[in-house]
Amino acid sequence: MTTDIRIGTGFDVHRLAEGRKLLLGGVEIPSRKGTLAHSDGDVLLHAVIDALLGAAALGDIGLHFPDTDDNFKDISSIFLLKKTWQLVKKNRFVLGNLDATLILEKPKIAPYIRQMRVAIAEILETEIENVSIKATTTEGLGFTGTGEGVAAQVVLLLAAI
Ligand code: MG
Repeated sequence: MTTDIRIGTGFDVHRLAEGRKLLLGGVEIPSRKGTLAHSDGDVLLHAVIDALLGAAALGDIGLHFPDTDDNFKDISSIFLLKKTWQLVKKNRFVLGNLDATLILEKPKIAPYIRQMRVAIAEILETEIENVSIKATTTEGLGFTGTGEGVAAQVVLLLAAI
């Protein structure tokens, strides 16, 4: 039996390193450190992709875009999210809402949150009101606290059409 509403969650972590770009939610953020990754390392978009795939029970990001595949080297996560959204749409879903939390010590990302919401809403063909992005620190504790890494978690609802 299928229901009309399906929930999905996504979680991702990337290591931070000097001299790399910091892309979060499709937005480049000025920062001394950026993410080290096979793709462009956009941890927030990766968590969104996993939440979409999870809600649709279509596997995970590693299944669709393996990091052993050179075709995905340095690839734009916006491109990966667009591909994922095409797949989710083909399975006859629309987005209900999405709520994300970014976990990092610095830089402060509040000035960029609106831009991220706009970028994600546009790709997922929804209104900005359906896309929430929050940020928190871990009070200096753990790998996010020391600035070794950045994490993102996402929960979202898909509605069957
Ligand atoms: Mg990732």
